[in-house]
Amino acid sequence: MEQFLSFPCPGCGALVDDNWNQFCPDCCEKLQMTSSSHCRGCGGGIDGILDYCSKCLQFGARPWQNAYSIFEINQFGREMIHRYKYRNGVELARAFARLGAEKICSTNEHFDVIVPVPLHWLRYLHRGYNQSQLFGLALQHELNIPMCNLLKRCRHTRRQASLNREARIKNLKNAFVIRNQPQTKGLSVLLIDDVFTTGSTLTEACRALPLAKVTVMTIGRR
Ligand SMILES: [Zn+2]
Ligand SMILES: [Zn+2]
Repeated sequence: MEQFLSFPCPGCGALVDDNWNQFCPDCCEKLQMTSSSHCRGCGGGIDGILDYCSKCLQFGARPWQNAYSIFEINQFGREMIHRYKYRNGVELARAFARLGAEKICSTNEHFDVIVPVPLHWLRYLHRGYNQSQLFGLALQHELNIPMCNLLKRCRHTRRQASLNREARIKNLKNAFVIRNQPQTKGLSVLLIDDVFTTGSTLTEACRALPLAKVTVMTIGRR
């Protein structure tokens, strides 16, 4: 006998058939997905014929080759990210990763390794999990690319949310180091984090990977 199983959508809880750890169609509609023609600097939309948006052109060179983000943070996206980060919404990792993998698979890009932006151990103890690492583990499963905790946060930094761009850059100076000096020359890295705001966290993390070819991906961007 055929079995029909229903699973709750991690976004709204609605039961959907054969929908294990995926957003239901309603939730997918409510998330404002980024377009496939995107800015290589920030993962947002482009407003001209170049590969970079006017804001990024002003901003100056980024230390990565390309940037992806799954969705623009609207009200629903903010709720999802907030639950994921601060209210133990770990079940969302897989649903985000499915969307992220879809995005990567629609390109010709190939990556050797997925590297999550690390949390300082104090914050890790406080939260109990690293949201970027969970997203990375789920992406590893979807894309069949190994995830490796190559980076270590060597300084406890203030939360970035309340800081402006200059203060963010200062706050993060030399916050990351690479573990055990592995061979990273020419390594194609997908560096992942939860939210893209100014890109300063990712920029600082890239500094610890100067020999690698880095592409960044975040769950949301604002
Ligand atoms: Zn839903
Ligand atoms: Zn841009």
